[in-house]
Amino acid sequence: MKDLIQKYLNCIPLSSEELYVRFWRHTMSYTKMKQNGFPLPDPKSPGKVLLVNTNVFSSKSMRLDSQMCRCGKTFSMLEDDWYVDDHGCNYHLGKQSFAGPNYGLYNCCKTVSPGCAFSKHHVSFHRPYEDVRFVHTVYKKGSAKKASNIFSIDCEMAFTTKGMEAVKVSLVDINGEVVYDTYVQPKNTILDYNTAFSGVCEKNLLYVTTRLDDVQARLLQLLNKDSILIGHGVENDLLALNMTHETVIDTSCVFPTREATPSRIP
Ligand SMILES: [Zn+2]
Ligand SMILES: [Zn+2]
Repeated sequence: MKDLIQKYLNCIPLSSEELYVRFWRHTMSYTKMKQNGFPLPDPKSPGKVLLVNTNVFSSKSMRLDSQMCRCGKTFSMLEDDWYVDDHGCNYHLGKQSFAGPNYGLYNCCKTVSPGCAFSKHHVSFHRPYEDVRFVHTVYKKGSAKKASNIFSIDCEMAFTTKGMEAVKVSLVDINGEVVYDTYVQPKNTILDYNTAFSGVCEKNLLYVTTRLDDVQARLLQLLNKDSILIGHGVENDLLALNMTHETVIDTSCVFPTREATPSRIP
């Protein structure tokens, strides 16, 4: 992959500064970030964020008293034992198809059965951001508008008793070199490692002492307000990191598909 990226970059007769500008043209406007549910700094309340468009989160319900599990069961996260159920959680790993010959079927098992996967607990897609303090990337003296200030980010999430929390964070530079790659021990007890999607399992986190605070501190060292951050559904990563950043290229907006991201506003 790195070789491919290098080969591609070598073909582009642009200076590092020109490359930065070309990428910068694809960054999201403040309005677009608001529409797509990005956390943005609340000017009236330092450390807090504005989340304007909650429609984007409709499938991840922001209301703690009416959360919907991946199995379709509705519950209240305000109850202590909301995730416990004698029958467990039967759910589908894939999505239901709403077009073509498989209309109505789940793409994981091509059935409409109650669920092809099982977990002991119900889970919530909620991002526990209400009582936390967000950190914000800042302008730094001498921060360069160069290709070296372009990064790609991705977070893996697990389901905990408070919703979805980051368990792995990766940052690569424009050459595909890994700049930062770490597991994170979430604040709350893990109910489901979400391994099918996160690739993270229990043994990966066994001796991990890195906490979200450590990750935030490292990311604030590596990034500044001018850093172009590229990712897919970056608002999810930023919410999980309890961090705001406003120079973002989101591939789900640059290359939107109704099927994959129906709530996305390109
Ligand atoms: Zn299925
Ligand atoms: Zn469930």
